[in-house]
Amino acid sequence: MARLIIGNWKMNLGPEEAVKLAERLSKIVKHGDYVEVVVCPPFVDIVPVVQALKDGVIKIGAQNVSSADHGAYTGEVSAMMLRGLADYVIVGHSERRAMGESDAEVGRKAAAVNRNGLTPVLCVGDKLSDRDHGLATRVVHDQLVAGLDHLTAEEVGHMVVAYEPVWAIGTGEFARPDGVKQVVDSIRSTVGELYGAAAAGSLRVLYGGSVAPENAAMYLREAGVDGLLVGGASIRSEEFAAIVAAAK
Ligand code: PEP
Repeated sequence: MARLIIGNWKMNLGPEEAVKLAERLSKIVKHGDYVEVVVCPPFVDIVPVVQALKDGVIKIGAQNVSSADHGAYTGEVSAMMLRGLADYVIVGHSERRAMGESDAEVGRKAAAVNRNGLTPVLCVGDKLSDRDHGLATRVVHDQLVAGLDHLTAEEVGHMVVAYEPVWAIGTGEFARPDGVKQVVDSIRSTVGELYGAAAAGSLRVLYGGSVAPENAAMYLREAGVDGLLVGGASIRSEEFAAIVAAAK
């Protein structure tokens, strides 16, 4: 299975800068059957970045979405509107959960993404206090169960789950590959129990948290993950290209 490398640009770059980054990435990111590359710009950048990447080698994702398809939801963007623009949509990023997004709402968002034919990237992850109390696996389990709640086994088998320990996001703090592997294995076994072995086998599980060119290969090799979700380093073109190269 090809590795999946997703860049989350977060709330950085206006349309002009975003197009520049996209054009640079399309020149320097090496591609091949071994890797699928996705960038997730802010909503206002998606249309120009789609234009800049129209050869389709680098795919587009969104960073968030409404759980509704249309209607009186001022300021929201729906998965229905993203059809034809994006292939992937991140749901339940810890930075959104920290703003009050509940596990149940994340589950409704994953369902909205799925019913509109896009692929959800469901983020799950423990906080420092969870880790210190030995609760990482439990917290991830509960987020996962709620996040997948409205999906069928077949839909779960096609989606992506990103394990992102909150204490490793944007901090430069290293998550040990053996610890990552333990949680990734527990994600697969929970999916296996709830949705069957086929879904657990085909679901892609990523790691995210201070991924950099220096540690990308270690996670891909030792933590048994299918790919990486990259934040900070994804808006630095040379670093992101080096992370993609580590997937080879
Ligand atoms: C993220 O935002 O999903 C993330 C993993 O960020 P960073 O790579 O900067 O830790």
